[in-house]
Amino acid sequence: MTLAFDPLQAASAALSVASDGARNPWQLERIRADRLARLLETCIARSALYRRWLKGIDPSRTQLHELPVVQRSELMRHFDEWIADPSIHLEDLRAFVKDPTRIAHAFAGRYIVWHSSGTSGEPGIFVQDARTMAIYDALEAFRGPLIRWAVRNPGELALPCNLVMIGLPDEHYASTVAMQRLRQLNPWLASRLHNVSLLQPMMDLERALERLRPAVMATFPSVALQLAEERQCGRLDVAPDEIWLGGETLTQPTRRFIEGSFGCRVHDSYGASEFLSIASECRFHALHLNADWVILEPIDEQGHPVGPDNESDAVLLTHLGNHLQPLLRYRLADRITLCSRPCACGSSLPVIKVQGRDDDMLRLPGARRRTLSVSPLAVATIIEQRGGLLAYQLRQTSRNELVLSCAAHDTGSRTRLPRAATELAHFLAGLGAVGVRVTPSIHACPMPGAGGKMRRIVAARDQFRPLL
Ligand SMILES: [Zn+2]
Repeated sequence: MTLAFDPLQAASAALSVASDGARNPWQLERIRADRLARLLETCIARSALYRRWLKGIDPSRTQLHELPVVQRSELMRHFDEWIADPSIHLEDLRAFVKDPTRIAHAFAGRYIVWHSSGTSGEPGIFVQDARTMAIYDALEAFRGPLIRWAVRNPGELALPCNLVMIGLPDEHYASTVAMQRLRQLNPWLASRLHNVSLLQPMMDLERALERLRPAVMATFPSVALQLAEERQCGRLDVAPDEIWLGGETLTQPTRRFIEGSFGCRVHDSYGASEFLSIASECRFHALHLNADWVILEPIDEQGHPVGPDNESDAVLLTHLGNHLQPLLRYRLADRITLCSRPCACGSSLPVIKVQGRDDDMLRLPGARRRTLSVSPLAVATIIEQRGGLLAYQLRQTSRNELVLSCAAHDTGSRTRLPRAATELAHFLAGLGAVGVRVTPSIHACPMPGAGGKMRRIVAARDQFRPLL
């Protein structure tokens, strides 16, 4: 079983996702309770760490709120005890995800592996077996945009149309791995699925997109916003049928601008490395939580529950499908609001609003008096992956001045700070930024990175007037 694909698991997950979506809230609650009890049984039987933490509990009677809250750092510290297959070791996984030639390869012949970015502190590594991948596949197929798009465009699948993901093709991130796995599982589709890098200069990216002429573009909202601005200025000539977004907060003004610029439909989704398809948008632009397979508990700063229609400070995630690497009441830094009003689409899956991290787009001077827009995602990737900094802040202090800071007490970051600043300056120059300086700076106060609310990338206001 390579690529973590098992036809029986796939059929079973597809059946359950297709039928669960039509359940009423009471039936959904029953399904969740059953799945939680089974997950707890597996935790106690197969995870040495959870066996210790859950000592004395009865899986069939325990309520979720009685279980301990866990942080990523704690789980990563005890990784080899946490994971339910004792043959998996963190050191082997770390070596695996360092090698870009092994993206979407089967680890140990049967597992799919990806890592998260460092935006919530230490990067996590996540391992999926065939069962978990079957659940993600079914959620994407039945509740994601793919089937609706195919139904609206029945002729497209027979034509050589392209789906282009604008992402980070050289990193073992979840979206990259999922796309690459899809290509390997469906060789007939492989020539239509493309992954192009968002780290390349805008002009190169535009020419690549024009060459591929995508029917669907999948990317992050900040990247789509840049492309929408380029199209508005007449520098990008593509006309996708749809744009699929995820990975960052999509605000209403950004959505309207992207839709207006491309004249096409935008589909938003919410996922994480911990759970690939947490919520997907319906035709009324409401994000529906996949509440049959994931539980989200909104909490405030003190960790107390937050009621419906109020924005939380963070959220506790319980993954009801991954028995290999159990996640129970796992803290995610995203702020969410559970909406009490049902959606007009008729789905009983709850509607949520998500406020992720809201870093700024940088506007920098480019050649021929042009303004160069750089997505915060690209900037963060360079600082974290090439510079090795995880807790930092980048502040634009003037038109062409950026200050990259880390905390005085963080000796590891202090050592890496000059290199990160150099890498960033080099990257920006490569994109076409002119005369931009990146100055390293050490601050007495803590820096963002450990799941805090502080923005990592803060642009200078009023330096440029963006189109939006
Ligand atoms: Zn809806």
